[in-house]
Amino acid sequence: MSEHRDPDFDVVIVGGGIVGIYQLYRALEAGFTATLLEAGDGVGGTWYWNRYPDARFDSESYTYAYLFSKELFDDWEWQEHFAGQPEIERYLNHVVDRFDLRRHIRLGTRVTSAVFDETSATVTVLPPVSTKGLTIEDAPRRAEEVRGLIARAIGAPTSESSSAPPPPPTEPAAAS
Ligand SMILES: Cc1cc2nc3c(=O)[nH]c(=O)nc-3n(C[C@H](O)[C@H](O)[C@H](O)COP(=O)(O)OP(=O)(O)OC[C@H]3O[C@@H](n4cnc5c(N)ncnc54)[C@H](O)[C@@H]3O)c2cc1C
Repeated sequence: MSEHRDPDFDVVIVGGGIVGIYQLYRALEAGFTATLLEAGDGVGGTWYWNRYPDARFDSESYTYAYLFSKELFDDWEWQEHFAGQPEIERYLNHVVDRFDLRRHIRLGTRVTSAVFDETSATVTVLPPVSTKGLTIEDAPRRAEEVRGLIARAIGAPTSESSSAPPPPPTEPAAAS
C-alpha cells in the first residue's frame, strides 16, 4: 500500500493571520511554490478568532491596512475610523480573494510537528492533520500549554514539574 504524501512546497506557512497572508502573497510573487496551513476554518487569525461584542482595532484602520499594493490600499474604503472585527475579517478575506490566494490555503489544518532534515535541507510538516480548530472551550487548555512551553524555554518550573504554589507578589520598594 502506498503511503499518502502531500506535495512538496518551497515554502510552508503556518497560520492565516495578517502576517501569514502577507507571507503567502510574497512567496508566490517571488515565484516559490507555497501553501498556507491554518487551524481555523477561516482566514484572519486574531480577527477570525476574536468575535466578542465590539471587538475592534485600537489602531486607526488605515494604518493597519497592507501597503504592498497601492490599488488595494486605494480600493478599500474603511467604514469606521477604528474598524470592528466583522469589517477587518471582511478586509482580510477580500485580500485573499483579490490576489487569488485561497487556492493555496488549507483551512482546518493544525500543524502538529515540523522536522528539519539536515541532509536534504527539508522541513517535513506533519501530519498535517485535519482538525476542527480551536473552540472557546479549548482556550484554558491552550493557555496552559503555552505557559508550559514558555516555562520550559526559560528553564522555569512548569505546572507538571512543580506543585508548589507560586510565591506571593512582592511589595514595590518604597520611594526614598
Ligand atoms: C482583540 C485584539 C485587538 C487587537 N488590536 C490591534 C490593533 O488595533 N492594532 C494592532 O496593530 N494590533 C492589534 N492586535 C494584535 C494582533 O494580534 C496583530 O495585529 C495581528 O493580527 C497578528 O497577526 P498574526 O498573523 O501575526 O497572528 P494571528 O492573527 O494570531 O494569526 C495566527 C494564526 O495562526 C494559526 N495557527 C497557530 N498555530 C497553528 C498551527 N500549529 N497550525 C496551523 N495554524 C496555526 C492560528 O489559528 C491563527 O489563525 C490585536 C489583537 C487582539 C487579540
